[in-house]
Amino acid sequence: GERLPRPERTRVMVVANQKGGVGKTTTTVNLAASLALHGARVLVVDLDPQGNASTALGIDHHSEVPSIYDVLVESKPLSEVVQPVPDVEGLFCAPATIDLAGAEIELVSLVARESRLQRAIEAYEQPLDYILIDCPPSLGLLTVNALVAGAEVLIPIQCEYYALEGLGQLLRNVDLVRGHLNRDLRISTILLTMYDGRTRLASQVAEEVRSHFGSEVLRTNIPRSVRISEAPSYGQTVLTYDPGSSGSLSYLEAAREIALRDPSAQSEQPQQQSLA
Ligand code: ADP
Ligand code: MG
Repeated sequence: GERLPRPERTRVMVVANQKGGVGKTTTTVNLAASLALHGARVLVVDLDPQGNASTALGIDHHSEVPSIYDVLVESKPLSEVVQPVPDVEGLFCAPATIDLAGAEIELVSLVARESRLQRAIEAYEQPLDYILIDCPPSLGLLTVNALVAGAEVLIPIQCEYYALEGLGQLLRNVDLVRGHLNRDLRISTILLTMYDGRTRLASQVAEEVRSHFGSEVLRTNIPRSVRISEAPSYGQTVLTYDPGSSGSLSYLEAAREIALRDPSAQSEQPQQQSLA
């Protein structure tokens, strides 16, 4: 793929929305693969006990596999659980196993319970351009760990009737974490997913989201696409499953927008035009 500017420091992006089924996991794995295909080194941290991101990346995550649970609860180094993603150079995954379902409660009694992921990431010495954290559909301690570890929040919003409902709670949590635990945290990116341009509803929701969030909303929308929804059952992202599909091209374009909006590089580098 087209080479994009690489960030000076690792960009840690938290993919969050406490609503289920809005495209968090789909966005995490496909954006991560897109960034890797653009030449970046990318780690996906699967923080959902369902392990859907691990599955979608073709990563083994049965209950004996060393996983992000061991990192959070047993203080195992991140380097001991990270696996390379088959077929995508530069892409890695810290898988989630079903053990993680208990972590929400086990974390409560541990020291530094909100910052265990942040510490693990800080201690990780492999060079990375991006870390994308796939959050569960809740605002418990797992999501708080992600918000403390990251600097950027990426919110996927599904273009449907109640799109903005419930977002207030996420925004308040981001404010709370910023105020008490991580003052660098900000909502950097909103991505409209499952967009069906033929319906009036989709364009109305898109307009509403854009008027509410402004420039944080990526220009690229992710279309509703059967190819996107089929890919995980083959343990693949849509980028390798059907590289020429509209879903694949839209995630590549979204990744390009994200890379060009690098907060650390913007002052030094002029925005580059596409080389494609
Ligand atoms: P979340 O992680 O927020 O729960 P998912 O990423 O798992 O959401 O997506 C929910 C469902 O919608 C999944 O079955 C997924 O395959 C499907 N899906 C996500 N994005 C798209 C899309 N752009 N087009 C079609 N189906 C999609
Ligand atoms: Mg998910």
